[in-house]
Amino acid sequence: MQPPMGNDRPPQGVPGRPVSAFVPGAATAAPPPSSFGAASAPRAPFAPPPQAAASPAAPFAAAPPAAMAGYRGPLCIRAATFSPSAVARAVTYSEWYGSTLGVCEATTASTITAPACARFLRWSASCKPTVPDVTASISAASADHAAPSYGGFWQSGGICDWWASYRGHPPELSGGLPVALGSLDPGVDVKGLPRPLDGDEEPTKVLEAYPLNCHPRYFRLTTHAIPASQSLVSRWHLPLGAVVHPLAESPDGEVPVINFGSAGVIRCRRCRTYINPYATFADAGRKWRCNLCTLLNDVPGEYFCGIDGSGRRYDADQRPELSKGTVEFVAPTEYMVRPPMPPSYFFLIDVSVSAVRSGLLEVVAKTIKSCLDDLPGFPRTQIGFLTFDSTLHFHNFKSSLSQPQMMVVADLDDVFLPLPDDLLVNLVDSRHVVESFLDSLPNMFQDNVNVESALGPALKAAFMVMSQIGGKLLVFQSTLPSLGVGRLRLRGDDVRAYGTDKEHSLRVPEDPFYKQMAAEFTKNQIAVDIFSFSDKYCDIASLGSLAKYTGGQVYHYPSFQAVTHGDKLKHELSRDLTRETAWESVMRIRCGKGVRFTTYHGHFMLRSTDLLALPAVDSDKAFAMQLSLEETLMTTQTVYFQVALLYTSSSGERRIRVHTAAAPVVTDLGEMYRQADTGAIVSLLSRIAVENSLSDKLDSVRQQLQLKLVRSLKEYRNLYVVQHRIGGRLIYPESLRFLPLYILSICKSLALRGGYADVSLDERCAAGFSMMILPAKKLLNFIYPSLYRVDEVLSMEPDRIGGSLKQLPLTMQCLDTGGLYLLDDGFTFLVWLGRMLPPELVNNILGVSLANFPDLSKVQLRECDNEYSRNFMKILGTLRERDPSYHQLCRVVRQGEQPREGFLLLSNLVEDQMAGTSSYMDWILQIHRQTQS
Ligand SMILES: [Zn+2]
Repeated sequence: MQPPMGNDRPPQGVPGRPVSAFVPGAATAAPPPSSFGAASAPRAPFAPPPQAAASPAAPFAAAPPAAMAGYRGPLCIRAATFSPSAVARAVTYSEWYGSTLGVCEATTASTITAPACARFLRWSASCKPTVPDVTASISAASADHAAPSYGGFWQSGGICDWWASYRGHPPELSGGLPVALGSLDPGVDVKGLPRPLDGDEEPTKVLEAYPLNCHPRYFRLTTHAIPASQSLVSRWHLPLGAVVHPLAESPDGEVPVINFGSAGVIRCRRCRTYINPYATFADAGRKWRCNLCTLLNDVPGEYFCGIDGSGRRYDADQRPELSKGTVEFVAPTEYMVRPPMPPSYFFLIDVSVSAVRSGLLEVVAKTIKSCLDDLPGFPRTQIGFLTFDSTLHFHNFKSSLSQPQMMVVADLDDVFLPLPDDLLVNLVDSRHVVESFLDSLPNMFQDNVNVESALGPALKAAFMVMSQIGGKLLVFQSTLPSLGVGRLRLRGDDVRAYGTDKEHSLRVPEDPFYKQMAAEFTKNQIAVDIFSFSDKYCDIASLGSLAKYTGGQVYHYPSFQAVTHGDKLKHELSRDLTRETAWESVMRIRCGKGVRFTTYHGHFMLRSTDLLALPAVDSDKAFAMQLSLEETLMTTQTVYFQVALLYTSSSGERRIRVHTAAAPVVTDLGEMYRQADTGAIVSLLSRIAVENSLSDKLDSVRQQLQLKLVRSLKEYRNLYVVQHRIGGRLIYPESLRFLPLYILSICKSLALRGGYADVSLDERCAAGFSMMILPAKKLLNFIYPSLYRVDEVLSMEPDRIGGSLKQLPLTMQCLDTGGLYLLDDGFTFLVWLGRMLPPELVNNILGVSLANFPDLSKVQLRECDNEYSRNFMKILGTLRERDPSYHQLCRVVRQGEQPREGFLLLSNLVEDQMAGTSSYMDWILQIHRQTQS
């Protein structure tokens, strides 16, 4: 919104303040560092702009205070002083200046726009001050300036953030405040530290400036401002790169599919870029210029269309490839080296005694049977099974049989196939044989007492069966492989290795067999998913490498028991089998002149310097990569990126999914910080950290993360500290306000926390494998889980519950002993029962009485016949629906129930101090000290 015409604008600029905050369009004039102060900050006198005192009782429609002149940044109201008149005044000002209006209440901050003000007014009329320290600071301010009606409203300058405004302490004033250098203790208010309580923030703003870009859900850069020079890169300190999620669920309906027919797929002759919305046309439409390499290409006759005066094709709006950042091309036969493969699923199932006793076999057999109708690729889908313990059991599914036939091969040294065909069969033809097999599988081995596992030979056999077609190999392993090639030894309990140079070797495969096998699998278009269930060490580090190099996934269910983990396995296996999958695929990311992706992080095999081989890929997998400058100085103003995934669809069509994006080249470090994307940075940083933990000590990995953070904040500080006279405050870019907490969370994540005693080696490795593939949103929730108080909403109308759940900071201080809390990290739900929680509530939800001292580790949450239980289960259901890629296992713990409370809950409260780790506040103080040194 523009200011009303004829407004008598107050004078521009105010002496003694950074001019940037007051010039029109300030948002682009100076980067907005945010800051939070130390020691004296919360107790510092509240100092509103002196000019404001001149118009304290400005009536509703009067001009805003002089200090507001030209300011278009956010406005701020503090919860403590919500009164309809203060709000109305602020809303008027915000409309006047086209600002966003901010509301800061107890521990959260949010913004609302002018159109939302009616709702806001209704709410604020009933709002009561609840935060004593804010109330106090307001009163003090009011007293100081004898301007009580002013208290509820003041402008926040270009370098102010919500958090700082909540503190009653606009940083642009800090130059004049008595902030003691280096004195950081003890008055910093922990409540006011920035927290990502809304999870990942997709950088959709990019689309406003670059509407032709693909949605950032598919491709996001760690900063949407590419540095123009090598020296800028080195001053950035954070990783420069991107996160790619090629098959992410489409944010806006179906991805358009284009068939060029006889014209063939339109690509640049030189660099092979696919035609895209950034390509330009010339010579009356007969030529098109490649936006990546600038080559002028001929437009094929069949594809010709005239252009208007601006060079735009008349048909651009009708052609998705010329108007949308994400499209899919139908690939003609030259994109095939063989006919498109049918979707094929081969199951390798451990049937040794532990698999039988845990109930694993039964869950697996039933789940697979229930998915048969939904496997992608009907009617071409192929399926097969191989079971094993100390021997290999092949199963003949020939369609003419009424029952499958089992053939046992005991020779593990020289594995051979006992029959040439019918081990991997067409599901439609052999459906009855397959069903008969799945029905009998749980009983087939019920008396098995064999404890051995010949996984290596079984993998070789599976390879022989699958190598002609390719497909997905799902391995169910419940013990350490003990026989034949690839047998592994117990090494996870070697406590002496920790803290030494050998520590990392526990986290890498011991036997090269697994990596060699993975290379063979990838070459033959086979992706391996590992489902591991052992109650003892089973060397996930080695097994997981099969998934790592084949585009697969690792699922870990430690100490699996069907009664407890059955639901989780059922959901995750069903998801794995029925989700849309892209087969025999390769992915390449092309970049414009001057930049190049150098290292890739995720699950794939690198086939050449920039070609990722992905035997199978789906919507649950993301990839990250680092970007380098090829030249010391970039001469272009824009860099283009194009992700191309060539794959076979389940229906047997060869397709190319293409995402195109553009980003500006900048010469200003401040702009890089302003356009930084915390979600992408954390995704890339955490993957690099997990990979570093394979060649270094955990402690060193954590130190490297901290060092990166300190260096970048220090650089940022050097940019602005003099200009804004921010003295002893820690300053950080608004775009990275959550980064310090996220980096602390990475250090405390399952994959990287503590040492030997803190996490079992298998769990650590499994978490590491997961972190390598998770899309940004899921990853952020994994390292900084969502915590909700639940008891207060259980009696609400079911429809209102979802909206009433408020995410809380991850600290013990948020837990009330009278409350019921739910922690959700995307893999597990933890239900925490406060000591003073009313017994009848516990009874209603758990269906057991705490008075009987039940073993909470065995409690199964099921819906009981009462309103609380129904609502509680509804909450769990809603949270699970938000992201179906994994199924949260529900665990219950009571306050003070040690040691379970420790490893289930306390270790997830990443803001608290735990053995050897810093609290959030200590961390901030540490970082602050280091940025000043
Ligand atoms: Zn080109």
